[in-house]
Amino acid sequence: MHDRNPMPASIKSQAPTYSVVVPCYNEEENILEFHKRISDVMNKTGESWEVVYVNDGSKDKTLEIVSVLSLEDTHVSYINLSRNFGKEIALTAGLDHAQATDAIIIIDADLQDPPEVITDLIAAKENVDTVYAQRRSRETDTFAKKFTAHLFYRLMERLGDKITIPPDTGDFRLISRRALNALLEMREHHRFMKGLFAWIGFPSKAILYDRAPRHGGTTSFNYWKLWNFALEGITSYTTVPLRITTYIGFFTACVAILYGCFIITKTLLFNNPVSGYPSLITTILFIGGIQIAAIGIVGEYLGRIFNETKHRPLYFIEHLHQAQPTHQDNIP
Ligand code: UDP
Ligand code: MG
Repeated sequence: MHDRNPMPASIKSQAPTYSVVVPCYNEEENILEFHKRISDVMNKTGESWEVVYVNDGSKDKTLEIVSVLSLEDTHVSYINLSRNFGKEIALTAGLDHAQATDAIIIIDADLQDPPEVITDLIAAKENVDTVYAQRRSRETDTFAKKFTAHLFYRLMERLGDKITIPPDTGDFRLISRRALNALLEMREHHRFMKGLFAWIGFPSKAILYDRAPRHGGTTSFNYWKLWNFALEGITSYTTVPLRITTYIGFFTACVAILYGCFIITKTLLFNNPVSGYPSLITTILFIGGIQIAAIGIVGEYLGRIFNETKHRPLYFIEHLHQAQPTHQDNIP
């Protein structure tokens, strides 16, 4: 691993005030436009800044574009991961290498999170550690997406023990250096970021924004992925399903005992002309189903324990280029 244009240590600059972390997977159509807009916004802050692009194993020209940008613009850092690791890990790699002293901004590369909103995030950061951007409305979403998202957030609200995940909020947010340090102490492999952000605590504030449609390219999420994301969210965030399983087990056993008493009494009083095939088969299938589901739930957690016990690194870096914003940056 080597820097393309290393700077002599003597004129090595101080760390920037802000870092903008951007996970990128097949974003060739968006990066240039994104970079233009983010540069405009960040230059207006009058503080020094860097943008950290994380190329998450893109199959298109994302990496080439980003590396050319880094030669032209001293604000650009980039990380090329050794393969596609998924958004949460790519984000973590970017956060690990963010140099900011003051605040870190997390944003998508597809311009669905308008870079201009960052001005509001920065304006609201006094006295809080997290400023998260909350969607004002989901007008652009289909009914099914709205409904499932609603269901998911209500479920998480019920399940979350003492911590609440704000609804209609993605990863788009500003976090302070101390909140980031806290976040980075959590090295688990199953990274449900919204859950992790909520778990660290610290004062936070919401600002409202309108989410734009994708600028170019296509989303890498479909319903099957979203469903798995929801499962991931629930199982890495809470063990409540295990407890529910226990309760279902107890409840079924109680019903079985009552039903047993009923059958015995009935037989003693009225004898037993062998019948009851329908009720028997229904009960067997029902209990069998519950048992398999229960084993599945236990398995989900066991699988996670298995993955975590391997203690593998979260990602590997193929190339790292860190921005060296110079002192002139501080002059607006
Ligand atoms: N992304 C990534 N790795 C992946 C998938 C997505 O780094 O494996 C990035 C992508 O480039 C974008 C962000 O994560 O910046 C959100 O992805 P996308 O727009 O596909 O998701 P959506 O906005 O539909 O939730
Ligand atoms: Mg998107």
